Amino acid sequence: MQKSFIQVEKGSHFPIQNLPYGIFRKQKDEEPRVGVAIGDYVLDLAVLHESGLLKIEGEQDDSSIFRQRYLNAMMEAGSTVWKAIRKQLQQLLDEGEASLRDDMELRERAFTKIDAVELLLPVEIGDYTDFYASKEHATNVGSMFRGKDQALMPNWTHLPVGYHGRASSVVVSGTEVRRPNGQMKPPGHEFPIFGPSKQLDFELELGWFVGHGNVSGEPIRLEEAEEKIFGLVLVNDWSARDIQAWEYQPLGPFLAKSFATSISPWVVPMDALEPFRVQGPKQEPTPLSYLEHKKAAAFDIQLDVSLKGSTMESIETFISTNFKYMYWSMAQQMSHHTINGCNLRAGDLLASGTISGPEKSERGCLLERTWRGEEPITFSNGDKRVWLEDDDEVVMTGYCQGNGYRVGFGEVRAKIAPALEM
Ligand code: MN
Repeated sequence: MQKSFIQVEKGSHFPIQNLPYGIFRKQKDEEPRVGVAIGDYVLDLAVLHESGLLKIEGEQDDSSIFRQRYLNAMMEAGSTVWKAIRKQLQQLLDEGEASLRDDMELRERAFTKIDAVELLLPVEIGDYTDFYASKEHATNVGSMFRGKDQALMPNWTHLPVGYHGRASSVVVSGTEVRRPNGQMKPPGHEFPIFGPSKQLDFELELGWFVGHGNVSGEPIRLEEAEEKIFGLVLVNDWSARDIQAWEYQPLGPFLAKSFATSISPWVVPMDALEPFRVQGPKQEPTPLSYLEHKKAAAFDIQLDVSLKGSTMESIETFISTNFKYMYWSMAQQMSHHTINGCNLRAGDLLASGTISGPEKSERGCLLERTWRGEEPITFSNGDKRVWLEDDDEVVMTGYCQGNGYRVGFGEVRAKIAPALEM
Protein backbone atom coordinates (compact mmCIF):
# COMPACT_ATOMS: atom_id res chain seq x y z
CA MET A 1 0.00 0.00 0.00
CA GLN A 2 1.37 3.40 -1.00
CA LYS A 3 2.20 5.82 1.84
CA SER A 4 3.13 9.47 2.02
CA PHE A 5 5.89 11.12 4.06
CA ILE A 6 3.06 13.31 5.38
CA GLN A 7 1.65 11.46 8.34
CA VAL A 8 -1.94 10.36 7.73
CA GLU A 9 -3.92 9.18 10.77
CA LYS A 10 -5.75 5.87 10.54
CA GLY A 11 -9.31 6.65 9.47
CA SER A 12 -8.32 9.96 7.82
CA HIS A 13 -10.35 10.75 4.71
CA PHE A 14 -7.35 12.13 2.88
CA PRO A 15 -4.56 9.58 2.35
CA ILE A 16 -2.28 9.66 -0.71
CA GLN A 17 -4.83 7.43 -2.51
CA ASN A 18 -7.39 10.27 -2.47
CA LEU A 19 -5.88 13.74 -3.09
CA PRO A 20 -9.10 15.75 -3.53
CA TYR A 21 -8.99 19.30 -4.92
CA GLY A 22 -10.31 22.40 -3.20
CA ILE A 23 -10.02 26.19 -3.18
CA PHE A 24 -8.54 27.76 -0.05
CA ARG A 25 -7.09 30.91 1.43
CA LYS A 26 -5.18 31.51 4.65
CA GLN A 27 -6.49 35.04 5.22
CA LYS A 28 -9.50 37.01 4.04
CA ASP A 29 -7.36 39.40 1.99
CA GLU A 30 -5.28 36.66 0.36
CA GLU A 31 -5.94 35.50 -3.20
CA PRO A 32 -7.54 32.05 -3.23
CA ARG A 33 -5.72 29.16 -4.89
CA VAL A 34 -6.03 25.46 -5.70
CA GLY A 35 -5.03 23.05 -2.96
CA VAL A 36 -4.99 19.30 -2.44
CA ALA A 37 -5.85 17.64 0.88
CA ILE A 38 -3.37 15.18 2.37
CA GLY A 39 -3.85 14.03 5.98
CA ASP A 40 -4.51 17.15 8.07
CA TYR A 41 -2.83 19.42 5.52
CA VAL A 42 -3.64 21.33 2.37
CA LEU A 43 -0.88 21.39 -0.24
CA ASP A 44 -0.67 24.64 -2.22
CA LEU A 45 -0.38 23.69 -5.90
CA ALA A 46 0.62 27.20 -6.99
CA VAL A 47 3.63 27.13 -4.67
CA LEU A 48 4.49 23.59 -5.73
CA HIS A 49 4.32 24.54 -9.40
CA GLU A 50 6.47 27.64 -8.93
CA SER A 51 9.10 25.51 -7.20
CA GLY A 52 9.48 23.58 -10.46
CA LEU A 53 8.48 20.22 -8.98
CA LEU A 54 4.98 20.13 -10.46
CA LYS A 55 4.63 20.52 -14.23
CA ILE A 56 1.59 21.04 -16.42
CA GLU A 57 1.41 19.21 -19.73
CA GLY A 58 0.60 21.28 -22.78
CA GLU A 59 1.46 24.72 -24.07
CA GLN A 60 0.77 26.82 -20.97
CA ASP A 61 3.04 25.62 -18.21
CA ASP A 62 2.47 28.45 -15.74
CA SER A 63 0.88 28.50 -12.32
CA SER A 64 -2.09 30.69 -13.33
CA ILE A 65 -4.24 27.56 -13.53
CA PHE A 66 -3.70 27.18 -9.74
CA ARG A 67 -4.05 30.87 -8.84
CA GLN A 68 -7.78 30.84 -9.28
CA ARG A 69 -10.92 31.52 -7.28
CA TYR A 70 -12.48 28.35 -8.75
CA LEU A 71 -11.35 24.98 -10.11
CA ASN A 72 -12.95 25.70 -13.50
CA ALA A 73 -9.69 26.58 -15.30
CA MET A 74 -8.24 23.24 -14.28
CA MET A 75 -11.43 21.41 -15.25
CA GLU A 76 -11.48 23.02 -18.68
CA ALA A 77 -7.89 21.89 -19.28
CA GLY A 78 -9.27 18.37 -19.70
CA SER A 79 -8.71 14.91 -18.25
CA THR A 80 -5.20 14.48 -19.72
CA VAL A 81 -4.06 17.46 -17.65
CA TRP A 82 -5.85 16.44 -14.41
CA LYS A 83 -4.58 12.89 -14.71
CA ALA A 84 -1.01 14.11 -15.24
CA ILE A 85 -1.24 16.44 -12.22
CA ARG A 86 -2.63 13.66 -10.03
CA LYS A 87 0.10 11.24 -11.11
CA GLN A 88 2.85 13.76 -10.29
CA LEU A 89 1.29 14.54 -6.90
CA GLN A 90 1.15 10.86 -5.99
CA GLN A 91 4.85 10.60 -6.88
CA LEU A 92 5.93 13.81 -5.12
CA LEU A 93 4.08 12.90 -1.91
CA ASP A 94 5.34 9.32 -1.78
CA GLU A 95 7.36 8.41 1.33
CA GLY A 96 10.28 7.23 -0.81
CA GLU A 97 10.52 10.38 -2.95
CA ALA A 98 13.07 12.89 -1.63
CA SER A 99 12.50 16.01 -3.78
CA LEU A 100 9.69 17.51 -1.72
CA ARG A 101 10.16 15.40 1.41
CA ASP A 102 13.65 16.72 2.10
CA ASP A 103 13.09 20.34 1.11
CA MET A 104 12.02 21.72 4.48
CA GLU A 105 11.97 25.31 3.28
CA LEU A 106 9.53 24.44 0.46
CA ARG A 107 7.42 22.24 2.73
CA GLU A 108 7.08 25.16 5.14
CA ARG A 109 5.59 27.30 2.36
CA ALA A 110 3.56 24.62 0.56
CA PHE A 111 1.72 22.90 3.43
CA THR A 112 -0.80 24.46 5.82
CA LYS A 113 -3.03 22.75 8.38
CA ILE A 114 -6.55 22.39 6.95
CA ASP A 115 -8.09 23.77 10.13
CA ALA A 116 -6.09 26.98 9.68
CA VAL A 117 -7.48 27.79 6.21
CA GLU A 118 -10.81 28.90 4.84
CA LEU A 119 -12.27 26.48 2.28
CA LEU A 120 -14.35 28.21 -0.39
CA LEU A 121 -17.01 27.04 -2.82
CA PRO A 122 -14.68 25.09 -5.15
CA VAL A 123 -16.44 25.46 -8.49
CA GLU A 124 -18.20 28.22 -10.38
CA ILE A 125 -21.34 26.25 -11.14
CA GLY A 126 -23.06 27.03 -14.41
CA ASP A 127 -25.99 24.64 -14.25
CA TYR A 128 -27.20 22.30 -11.57
CA THR A 129 -29.28 19.24 -12.43
CA ASP A 130 -30.80 17.03 -9.76
CA PHE A 131 -31.83 13.44 -10.49
CA TYR A 132 -34.05 10.94 -8.67
CA ALA A 133 -31.95 7.84 -9.17
CA SER A 134 -32.61 5.74 -6.05
CA LYS A 135 -35.32 3.16 -6.60
CA GLU A 136 -35.83 2.75 -2.84
CA HIS A 137 -36.31 6.51 -2.44
CA ALA A 138 -38.64 6.89 -5.41
CA THR A 139 -40.68 3.86 -4.29
CA ASN A 140 -40.99 5.09 -0.69
CA VAL A 141 -41.96 8.64 -1.65
CA GLY A 142 -44.33 7.34 -4.35
CA SER A 143 -46.09 4.99 -1.92
CA MET A 144 -46.59 7.82 0.58
CA PHE A 145 -48.21 10.08 -1.99
CA ARG A 146 -49.88 7.68 -4.43
CA GLY A 147 -50.11 4.36 -2.62
CA LYS A 148 -48.02 1.20 -2.95
CA ASP A 149 -49.51 0.05 -6.25
CA GLN A 150 -48.56 3.17 -8.18
CA ALA A 151 -45.40 3.98 -6.23
CA LEU A 152 -43.16 4.24 -9.31
CA MET A 153 -44.33 6.30 -12.28
CA PRO A 154 -44.36 4.25 -15.54
CA ASN A 155 -41.27 6.06 -16.90
CA TRP A 156 -39.09 5.49 -13.82
CA THR A 157 -37.47 2.16 -14.74
CA HIS A 158 -36.85 3.35 -18.32
CA LEU A 159 -35.07 6.66 -17.80
CA PRO A 160 -33.22 8.56 -15.07
CA VAL A 161 -35.78 11.19 -13.99
CA GLY A 162 -34.29 14.63 -13.30
CA TYR A 163 -35.04 18.34 -13.21
CA HIS A 164 -33.12 21.58 -13.56
CA GLY A 165 -32.09 22.92 -10.16
CA ARG A 166 -30.77 26.31 -9.15
CA ALA A 167 -26.99 26.91 -9.37
CA SER A 168 -26.93 30.40 -7.82
CA SER A 169 -27.84 29.15 -4.33
CA VAL A 170 -25.30 26.31 -4.07
CA VAL A 171 -23.17 27.07 -1.00
CA VAL A 172 -20.13 25.49 0.60
CA SER A 173 -20.20 23.50 3.84
CA GLY A 174 -20.36 25.72 6.93
CA THR A 175 -22.65 28.32 5.36
CA GLU A 176 -25.76 28.87 7.46
CA VAL A 177 -29.04 27.95 5.77
CA ARG A 178 -32.04 30.15 6.47
CA ARG A 179 -35.45 28.54 6.80
CA PRO A 180 -37.43 29.67 3.77
CA ASN A 181 -40.72 31.53 3.79
CA GLY A 182 -43.31 30.52 1.24
CA GLN A 183 -46.79 29.50 0.27
CA MET A 184 -48.24 26.28 1.53
CA LYS A 185 -51.65 24.75 1.96
CA PRO A 186 -51.80 22.66 5.12
CA PRO A 187 -54.45 19.93 5.35
CA GLY A 188 -57.83 21.34 6.37
CA HIS A 189 -57.12 24.80 4.99
CA GLU A 190 -59.39 26.05 2.24
CA PHE A 191 -56.84 28.64 1.04
CA PRO A 192 -53.04 28.69 1.02
CA ILE A 193 -51.15 30.48 3.79
CA PHE A 194 -47.80 32.31 3.80
CA GLY A 195 -45.05 31.88 6.37
CA PRO A 196 -41.91 29.96 7.39
CA SER A 197 -41.78 26.37 6.12
CA LYS A 198 -42.72 23.96 8.92
CA GLN A 199 -41.51 20.89 7.06
CA LEU A 200 -37.86 21.66 6.41
CA ASP A 201 -35.91 18.61 5.28
CA PHE A 202 -32.49 17.61 3.93
CA GLU A 203 -31.64 15.20 1.12
CA LEU A 204 -28.47 13.10 1.31
CA GLU A 205 -26.98 13.05 -2.19
CA LEU A 206 -23.69 12.80 -4.04
CA GLY A 207 -22.93 15.26 -6.80
CA TRP A 208 -20.37 15.25 -9.60
CA PHE A 209 -18.78 18.04 -11.58
CA VAL A 210 -18.53 17.94 -15.33
CA GLY A 211 -14.86 18.48 -16.21
CA HIS A 212 -15.18 18.93 -19.92
CA GLY A 213 -18.54 18.88 -21.55
CA ASN A 214 -19.97 18.17 -24.97
CA VAL A 215 -20.71 20.30 -28.00
CA SER A 216 -24.37 21.20 -28.34
CA GLY A 217 -26.08 18.61 -30.54
CA GLU A 218 -23.55 15.84 -29.80
CA PRO A 219 -24.64 13.56 -26.93
CA ILE A 220 -22.18 12.05 -24.47
CA ARG A 221 -22.12 8.30 -25.07
CA LEU A 222 -22.44 6.02 -22.07
CA GLU A 223 -18.89 4.64 -22.43
CA GLU A 224 -17.29 8.11 -22.49
CA ALA A 225 -19.37 9.68 -19.69
CA GLU A 226 -17.09 8.83 -16.74
CA GLU A 227 -14.05 10.31 -18.53
CA LYS A 228 -15.83 13.66 -18.44
CA ILE A 229 -16.36 13.67 -14.67
CA PHE A 230 -13.80 15.81 -12.81
CA GLY A 231 -14.82 14.66 -9.35
CA LEU A 232 -17.47 14.19 -6.69
CA VAL A 233 -18.76 16.05 -3.63
CA LEU A 234 -21.34 15.42 -0.91
CA VAL A 235 -24.58 17.28 -1.55
CA ASN A 236 -27.30 18.31 0.90
CA ASP A 237 -30.25 19.26 -1.27
CA TRP A 238 -32.41 21.13 1.28
CA SER A 239 -36.15 20.76 0.70
CA ALA A 240 -39.22 22.50 2.15
CA ARG A 241 -41.79 19.70 1.91
CA ASP A 242 -44.87 21.83 2.66
CA ILE A 243 -43.95 24.37 -0.03
CA GLN A 244 -43.12 21.49 -2.38
CA ALA A 245 -46.44 19.69 -1.82
CA TRP A 246 -48.42 22.81 -2.80
CA GLU A 247 -46.33 24.04 -5.74
CA TYR A 248 -44.97 20.96 -7.49
CA GLN A 249 -47.71 20.10 -9.98
CA PRO A 250 -47.43 20.15 -12.93
CA LEU A 251 -43.85 21.38 -13.50
CA GLY A 252 -41.99 19.91 -10.52
CA PRO A 253 -40.17 21.46 -7.56
CA PHE A 254 -39.38 25.18 -7.65
CA LEU A 255 -39.08 27.36 -4.52
CA ALA A 256 -39.12 24.31 -2.24
CA LYS A 257 -35.60 23.51 -3.42
CA SER A 258 -34.04 26.66 -4.84
CA PHE A 259 -33.32 28.48 -1.55
CA ALA A 260 -30.12 26.50 -0.81
CA THR A 261 -28.05 23.44 -1.70
CA SER A 262 -24.92 22.72 0.37
CA ILE A 263 -21.83 20.91 -0.92
CA SER A 264 -18.60 19.66 0.67
CA PRO A 265 -15.46 21.67 -0.16
CA TRP A 266 -13.19 18.84 -1.39
CA VAL A 267 -13.72 17.44 -4.89
CA VAL A 268 -12.73 13.75 -4.92
CA PRO A 269 -11.29 12.73 -8.32
CA MET A 270 -12.99 9.92 -10.24
CA ASP A 271 -9.65 8.07 -10.36
CA ALA A 272 -9.59 7.86 -6.55
CA LEU A 273 -12.90 5.96 -6.64
CA GLU A 274 -11.82 3.38 -9.21
CA PRO A 275 -10.89 0.68 -6.61
CA PHE A 276 -14.44 0.94 -5.22
CA ARG A 277 -16.32 0.27 -8.43
CA VAL A 278 -19.03 -2.39 -7.93
CA GLN A 279 -21.92 -3.85 -9.84
CA GLY A 280 -25.10 -1.79 -9.35
CA PRO A 281 -28.60 -3.24 -8.89
CA LYS A 282 -29.90 -5.38 -11.73
CA GLN A 283 -31.88 -3.22 -14.13
CA GLU A 284 -35.22 -4.79 -14.99
CA PRO A 285 -36.45 -4.19 -17.68
CA THR A 286 -33.20 -3.82 -19.63
CA PRO A 287 -32.83 -0.13 -20.50
CA LEU A 288 -32.87 1.09 -24.11
CA SER A 289 -29.50 0.51 -25.74
CA TYR A 290 -28.12 4.06 -25.25
CA LEU A 291 -28.48 3.43 -21.49
CA GLU A 292 -27.33 -0.19 -21.37
CA HIS A 293 -24.11 -0.68 -19.41
CA LYS A 294 -21.50 -3.21 -20.46
CA LYS A 295 -19.54 -2.85 -17.21
CA ALA A 296 -20.02 -2.25 -13.48
CA ALA A 297 -20.83 1.41 -12.94
CA ALA A 298 -21.83 1.76 -9.27
CA PHE A 299 -19.46 2.81 -6.46
CA ASP A 300 -19.28 1.52 -2.89
CA ILE A 301 -19.39 4.72 -0.84
CA GLN A 302 -20.57 4.53 2.77
CA LEU A 303 -22.66 7.59 3.74
CA ASP A 304 -23.87 8.90 7.11
CA VAL A 305 -26.14 11.70 8.28
CA SER A 306 -25.90 13.15 11.79
CA LEU A 307 -27.81 15.83 13.61
CA LYS A 308 -27.18 18.06 16.59
CA GLY A 309 -30.07 20.03 18.00
CA SER A 310 -29.48 22.98 20.34
CA THR A 311 -30.58 20.93 23.38
CA MET A 312 -28.54 17.85 22.46
CA GLU A 313 -25.17 17.36 24.10
CA SER A 314 -23.49 15.70 21.17
CA ILE A 315 -24.05 15.00 17.53
CA GLU A 316 -25.82 11.70 16.67
CA THR A 317 -25.77 9.62 13.52
CA PHE A 318 -29.22 8.38 12.55
CA ILE A 319 -28.89 7.48 8.85
CA SER A 320 -26.26 5.18 7.32
CA THR A 321 -26.56 4.16 3.70
CA ASN A 322 -24.50 3.53 0.57
CA PHE A 323 -24.14 5.01 -2.90
CA LYS A 324 -23.93 1.49 -4.38
CA TYR A 325 -27.72 1.10 -4.07
CA MET A 326 -28.41 3.70 -6.76
CA TYR A 327 -30.42 2.19 -9.62
CA TRP A 328 -29.18 4.60 -12.29
CA SER A 329 -25.41 5.17 -12.56
CA MET A 330 -23.71 8.55 -12.91
CA ALA A 331 -22.81 7.63 -16.50
CA GLN A 332 -26.42 6.77 -17.34
CA GLN A 333 -27.62 10.05 -15.87
CA MET A 334 -25.08 12.04 -17.91
CA SER A 335 -25.73 10.13 -21.08
CA HIS A 336 -29.49 10.54 -20.74
CA HIS A 337 -29.08 14.26 -19.92
CA THR A 338 -27.36 14.86 -23.25
CA ILE A 339 -29.16 12.37 -25.52
CA ASN A 340 -31.33 15.19 -26.92
CA GLY A 341 -28.19 17.21 -27.76
CA CYS A 342 -28.16 19.28 -24.56
CA ASN A 343 -24.62 20.52 -23.87
CA LEU A 344 -23.00 20.10 -20.45
CA ARG A 345 -20.22 22.55 -19.60
CA ALA A 346 -17.17 22.51 -17.34
CA GLY A 347 -18.38 23.29 -13.83
CA ASP A 348 -21.90 21.94 -14.20
CA LEU A 349 -23.09 20.08 -11.11
CA LEU A 350 -25.15 16.90 -11.48
CA ALA A 351 -26.57 15.28 -8.34
CA SER A 352 -27.96 11.82 -7.74
CA GLY A 353 -31.14 12.58 -5.84
CA THR A 354 -31.75 11.26 -2.34
CA ILE A 355 -29.69 8.14 -1.65
CA SER A 356 -31.68 5.48 0.16
CA GLY A 357 -31.17 1.78 0.78
CA PRO A 358 -33.51 -1.10 1.59
CA GLU A 359 -33.49 -0.66 5.40
CA LYS A 360 -35.29 2.02 7.42
CA SER A 361 -32.01 3.33 8.79
CA GLU A 362 -30.80 3.71 5.19
CA ARG A 363 -33.41 6.26 4.12
CA GLY A 364 -31.68 9.49 3.10
CA CYS A 365 -34.14 12.25 4.08
CA LEU A 366 -36.56 13.00 6.90
CA LEU A 367 -39.67 12.68 4.72
CA GLU A 368 -38.78 9.06 4.16
CA ARG A 369 -37.00 8.33 7.44
CA THR A 370 -40.02 9.49 9.53
CA TRP A 371 -42.52 8.25 6.94
CA ARG A 372 -43.97 11.75 6.47
CA GLY A 373 -44.08 12.34 10.21
CA GLU A 374 -45.68 9.07 11.32
CA GLU A 375 -42.47 7.70 12.84
CA PRO A 376 -40.54 10.46 14.62
CA ILE A 377 -36.83 9.95 15.31
CA THR A 378 -35.92 9.89 18.99
CA PHE A 379 -32.40 10.94 19.98
CA SER A 380 -30.63 9.70 23.11
CA ASN A 381 -31.59 12.70 25.28
CA GLY A 382 -35.27 12.17 24.37
CA ASP A 383 -35.39 14.93 21.71
CA LYS A 384 -37.63 14.00 18.81
CA ARG A 385 -37.61 15.13 15.20
CA VAL A 386 -40.05 14.87 12.36
CA TRP A 387 -38.71 17.91 10.48
CA LEU A 388 -35.72 20.18 11.12
CA GLU A 389 -35.88 22.81 13.84
CA ASP A 390 -34.10 26.16 14.01
CA ASP A 391 -30.45 25.83 15.17
CA ASP A 392 -30.32 22.16 14.14
CA GLU A 393 -26.97 21.31 12.62
CA VAL A 394 -26.95 18.62 9.91
CA VAL A 395 -23.70 16.87 9.00
CA MET A 396 -23.25 14.45 6.12
CA THR A 397 -20.12 12.45 5.58
CA GLY A 398 -18.95 9.64 3.34
CA TYR A 399 -15.99 7.41 2.55
CA CYS A 400 -14.85 4.34 0.65
CA GLN A 401 -13.19 1.71 2.83
CA GLY A 402 -10.00 0.37 1.25
CA ASN A 403 -7.60 -2.22 2.61
CA GLY A 404 -5.90 -0.17 5.34
CA TYR A 405 -7.00 3.25 4.10
CA ARG A 406 -10.09 5.35 3.42
CA VAL A 407 -10.91 7.55 0.48
CA GLY A 408 -13.24 10.10 2.09
CA PHE A 409 -15.26 13.15 1.22
CA GLY A 410 -14.82 15.06 4.47
CA GLU A 411 -18.18 16.53 5.37
CA VAL A 412 -20.95 18.90 4.40
CA ARG A 413 -22.25 20.70 7.46
CA ALA A 414 -24.82 23.44 7.94
CA LYS A 415 -26.94 24.99 10.68
CA ILE A 416 -30.53 26.13 10.26
CA ALA A 417 -31.15 29.83 10.93
CA PRO A 418 -34.67 31.05 11.78
CA ALA A 419 -36.81 32.38 8.92
CA LEU A 420 -36.82 36.11 8.17
CA GLU A 421 -39.78 37.81 9.80
CA MET A 422 -42.01 39.20 7.11
MN1 MN B 1 -32.75 16.41 -4.49
